Amino acid sequence: MHGTGRGGRKLGVMGGTFDPIHHGHLVAASEVAHRFDLDEVIFVPTGQPWQKTDRQVSPAEDRYLMTVIATASNPRFSVSRADVERSKVTYTVDTLRDLHAQHPGAELFFITGADALASILTWQDWAELFELAKFVGVSRPGYELNIDHLADHLRGMPDDAVTMIEIPALAISSSECRRRAAEGRPVWYLVPDGVVQYISKRHLYVPARAEGDGNV
Ligand code: ATP
Ligand code: MG
Repeated sequence: MHGTGRGGRKLGVMGGTFDPIHHGHLVAASEVAHRFDLDEVIFVPTGQPWQKTDRQVSPAEDRYLMTVIATASNPRFSVSRADVERSKVTYTVDTLRDLHAQHPGAELFFITGADALASILTWQDWAELFELAKFVGVSRPGYELNIDHLADHLRGMPDDAVTMIEIPALAISSSECRRRAAEGRPVWYLVPDGVVQYISKRHLYVPARAEGDGNV
């Protein structure tokens, strides 16, 4: 049976830019859902990502639709428009507050890769974040799965405020998928089939020079 604790449901929250969503994201969500016996994992594509001001991020609507395509076949996966529709830059606290409002009584588990966990917890109000959700850090090739450097902040927090888990290693990143698409190399099997086709249909990631070809 799924769902325990305060009579509410257990919801995973998988935030990301998802430009594009890839199998690393999906395995992370699936593995955490299994380990924590979650009722659902809600994928939340970012609106205007504040940590990625160094590059052009694809339109939110494209990232949202790729996330929908990638998750559609899993009955336990869903996608939220909460951050896509926000006009301002989103912080994780905002996302979590909105999800609480939409799912009263639910227990939230915020899922992040080892790399992103450190930055989320560095930049934001810890006390409030931990009131809103438990954090689950997942292993990611190339990054150390270690919260020793967070020990000072974690002192006095409940033991389960942050849990680190090993998941099957997929050395896939959205950056590498974009690079591949830009260079005409395949992204098959790195992202779901429907996402390969969406990237090609919308000419995402093609160099600016080729973008206007045959188009208005
Ligand atoms: P980019 O290269 O553009 O930063 P990304 O692959 O890191 O893209 P994001 O959308 O930035 O993807 O990541 C969303 C979340 O998924 C983050 O918490 C990130 O750490 C996690 N994540 C991404 N790829 C993996 C992977 N291969 N294994 C485990 N976690 C991952
Ligand atoms: Mg990233």
